[in-house]
Amino acid sequence: MSVIDEPLRFDAGALAATRVPGKVTLVGAGPGDPDLLTVKAERALRRAQVVLYDALVGLEVLALVPEAARKLFVGKRCGHHALTQAAIIELMLRLARSGQPVLRLKGGDPFIFGRGGEEVQALAAEGIPFEVVPGISAAQGAAASLGIPLTHRDHASALVFATGHLRRGAQDADEAVPDLDWALLARPNQTTVIYMGTGALPRICAQLIAHGLAGDTPAATVERATRPDARLVKGTLLSLPALAQVHAVQAPALIVVGSVIGLQAELATTLRGLPQVAMV
Ligand code: SAH
Repeated sequence: MSVIDEPLRFDAGALAATRVPGKVTLVGAGPGDPDLLTVKAERALRRAQVVLYDALVGLEVLALVPEAARKLFVGKRCGHHALTQAAIIELMLRLARSGQPVLRLKGGDPFIFGRGGEEVQALAAEGIPFEVVPGISAAQGAAASLGIPLTHRDHASALVFATGHLRRGAQDADEAVPDLDWALLARPNQTTVIYMGTGALPRICAQLIAHGLAGDTPAATVERATRPDARLVKGTLLSLPALAQVHAVQAPALIVVGSVIGLQAELATTLRGLPQVAMV
């Protein structure tokens, strides 16, 4: 028989520490058009109590969250982070540890250039349960809405997604080039989609040519895909940087490279929904 002679203590801190953590649900908000949410994402949003959301999440998507829920903006605007990635993770952990279910809402798909991987690693390390609800990534939204098949038997038997983001410190250097496997990106019979690459567009096009792609390879930028103000700028690897400058192409935008871009004009004739898209 064991004797318990300790007086009962109600230590709030200890209680919080032993509390069952809340589940964290990483939800992909899709590329912008709220109709492109998954049914599962919509259900999660309608039940949410605390939402941590990024800059690329559209207002219509956020409007699905109940009025009474806490909505915390943790994204990046005009190059400035509201919170660092470490602070976002810390906040998410703190909320979950306190027992609250947390909805972490990210643009596109959480596991495609969304740093969702780092966030679920932190959750797993702390034993916090989580779930991931995939979203339609920007490349898929752009492709479907504009009539750019990402793969095609006659044009592209492989598809590569890459990030053109320059590492911190390299961003201001005019000559800085994203640290990528250029030979892989420049392979023929492939579609290459570069996220976060508009700032480095001239250098990206030059590298692709230097690694073997012809200067007349079709290339395009797609800004704000699936949103009412979406814009497509089409050219070639040689002409696109100047076109993008003339038309002041801005983030969020994708760079799409490959001969599938050449199919766009043919498909655009009867593709529904396209007239709203500004094309250059
Ligand atoms: N997880 C997101 C990507 C986040 S990285 C996804 O799966 O789509 C942010 C980059 O995504 C932007 O810099 C831009 O390159 C791209 N992006 C996101 N939404 C976009 C949109 N509606 N149109 C074009 N590019 C977009």
